[in-house]
Amino acid sequence: MQNFYFPEKVKIAKIEQHSADVKLFRLQKNRGKFAKNRDGLVFNPGQFVLAGIWGYGEAPFGPASPPENNSYLEILIRNTGGVVTNAFHNLKNGAEATLRGPYGNGFPLKFFEGKDLVLATGGCGIPPIASLIEYIIKNRKDFGRVYLIYGAKTPQDLLLKERISNWEKQIKIILTIDKQAPDWKGGVGFVSEFVKEIEIDPNNSCAAMCGPGPMMNALEKILRPLGISDRRIFANTERKMQCGIGKCQHCTTGEKYTCTDGPVFYFDEIDRNWD
Ligand SMILES: Cc1cc2nc3c(=O)[nH]c(=O)nc-3n(C[C@H](O)[C@H](O)[C@H](O)COP(=O)(O)OP(=O)(O)OC[C@H]3O[C@@H](n4cnc5c(N)ncnc54)[C@H](O)[C@@H]3O)c2cc1C
Repeated sequence: MQNFYFPEKVKIAKIEQHSADVKLFRLQKNRGKFAKNRDGLVFNPGQFVLAGIWGYGEAPFGPASPPENNSYLEILIRNTGGVVTNAFHNLKNGAEATLRGPYGNGFPLKFFEGKDLVLATGGCGIPPIASLIEYIIKNRKDFGRVYLIYGAKTPQDLLLKERISNWEKQIKIILTIDKQAPDWKGGVGFVSEFVKEIEIDPNNSCAAMCGPGPMMNALEKILRPLGISDRRIFANTERKMQCGIGKCQHCTTGEKYTCTDGPVFYFDEIDRNWD
């Protein structure tokens, strides 16, 4: 039986530069395909994996690929200048990496069914939202109206541009950047004006979001006026993490562990537990 906590060797089958500091890495097993869970998914959108390189260590990343695809797993890595992310950015196609997981809870897919959804993220927070969108599109009739609000500093910082163009056929997309740029036709800033573009039934809607603290605060200005209650807003949080299995305490926040209680939390849990 395979040990769930043991890192396995994987091959980097593809590397794509998506912005100045973000690359996409396609990971493939050396033999066979990734195992699926009882829902037929390799991971639940919102879960994370620990990807690493021998001699450098490992770090948590939320897969961005379609969750039912067991041929490969794609992660987007922003180079923070730290040991692991920098080492990944120096890899070439065909290099070896390690992978363990998926870990954590992920978004409540069954609870989302039949509801209107507002998905909101910024910058490199897009991966778990991207896999959630792939799942929604694959099962489109199970969901109501779906909106993606995605913000980045500049148009060049928007990730997964090709996939966003495909998603546009199935869901409504609002793209924003921090400051007006030449030829930009989308929104500017995370301003509450976007609320009027979103038509949902507040009593039958959920929101899913992912990003750093300040972005979550900005998104609150959009989500609050929509009238979605805190227990229907699910936030995917990123925190410094090491073991991924509730032992090392690096990712504790208040009473919670990001790795085992999250990384997806109710919005009011974040208010209580976040620093
Ligand atoms: C559940 C989860 C999912 C994540 N998904 C992604 C993803 O899809 N793509 C992605 O690029 N990153 C993601 N991250 C963040 C990523 O794990 C960190 O950037 C990475 O651990 C940094 O490792 P490092 O060794 O390169 O940097 P380190 O040497 O550990 O640190 C380098 C710098 O990065 C900062 N840093 C480290 N970890 C974090 C963090 N979690 N949040 C903010 N700053 C941090 C440090 O303070 C330091 O300034 C995720 C984190 C979590 C917890």
